[in-house]
Amino acid sequence: MKLVLLLSALLGASLALETFVGHQVLRIKTRNEEEVRQLQLLESLEHLELDFWINPSAPALPVDVRIPAANVQSVKAFLESQGIEYSILIEDLQVGNSDRHTWSLPTFRKQTRIPGLASFPAWALPRPIYAELDHLASEHSFVEKIQIGESYEKRPLYALKFSTGGSNRPAIWLDAGIHSREWVTQASALWIANQIASGYGSDSSITSLLDKMDLFLLPVANPDGFVYTHTSNRMWRKTRSKNAGSVCYGVDPNRNWDAGFGGPGASSWPCSDSYHGPSAESEVEVKSVADFIRNHGNFKAFLTLHSYSQLLMYPYGYKCTRPDDYAELESLGRAAANAIKSVYGTTFQVGPICSTIYQASGGSIDWAYDIGIKYSFAFELRDTGRYGFLLPANQIVPAATETWMGLRKIMEHVLKKQD
Ligand SMILES: [Zn+2]
Repeated sequence: MKLVLLLSALLGASLALETFVGHQVLRIKTRNEEEVRQLQLLESLEHLELDFWINPSAPALPVDVRIPAANVQSVKAFLESQGIEYSILIEDLQVGNSDRHTWSLPTFRKQTRIPGLASFPAWALPRPIYAELDHLASEHSFVEKIQIGESYEKRPLYALKFSTGGSNRPAIWLDAGIHSREWVTQASALWIANQIASGYGSDSSITSLLDKMDLFLLPVANPDGFVYTHTSNRMWRKTRSKNAGSVCYGVDPNRNWDAGFGGPGASSWPCSDSYHGPSAESEVEVKSVADFIRNHGNFKAFLTLHSYSQLLMYPYGYKCTRPDDYAELESLGRAAANAIKSVYGTTFQVGPICSTIYQASGGSIDWAYDIGIKYSFAFELRDTGRYGFLLPANQIVPAATETWMGLRKIMEHVLKKQD
């Protein structure tokens, strides 16, 4: 009897995997503030269950939104009635996209291998990723796997520490996957970790960096959300904490930092994908990183990977005023974008968060910048919406390669400024 119950529970779990049959992703082009306001109004209609992949903010910027099948027609009718221009980015999120049709477990386990990594399924669950961290640590004496905390559901937050000596050297922070559905980021972080580990002693840029500075890399910043994207809902973005008084789970961990907390561009509604949480650092995943960085006290750069949109952004997001270091950050951002472009011609737009994507409060790079970490940048990796979060696995290595060139440019500059 117990076995039967157990089996049915397991079956129940696999059947609970959310599907997206008939869901469409629309790209909406607004022409003026009034149309932006119309979309913001649409966003507030909870029963439509709209999932904004890119939020409505300024008329010049595109808005991408996933619409459940049942509401596709009424949303389109609304847009047409208002004369708002749109096109269909993704016709049906579930079907007709075998390569990015990645919400069944067997597909993840196809083991598309990345050259240069020992053994790593293209879209790996946390455990194979952690095994890869162990592998890198065992192969390289200057690489160590450290635990900086534990997630809400008690998963370890593992980071790699690259250090060739000294004590509490000036350091660079790099994280990925704080938004769990942005799968190209966790995979890219791992590829980049391998690049850095194997480049010490042969790549002059990596060698001179690690001769003077330490580097910390957290490839899965939101492991609970990441597991949930594999087991239940591929489109999950937030943490998995319980919200008191609500049936909805999770907090947007990139609205939860102590930087303009609760301000514009974050929601106070627990069901929203940009819910900021009950208080700054309420999410243990955020607090663990913030504590680690505060306790260390010698970080010079804070770099974080998101997707998608191909942007390279610096503070601020919670306000639309320029940071004190605007000129330096802008020119460094442009240099990094040029380095990215030099690989495959991929263009990244550069600028402060507020004017580049949208005003958003409680974000990590604003927090880092405000505590004195001057070189704080957020990358939005490939693509610009053709696949969105469902970037095909064969784009992981190209995306990681070009991103690494951008990161490297920033790291070289940070090192130069230490002298
Ligand atoms: Zn993100």
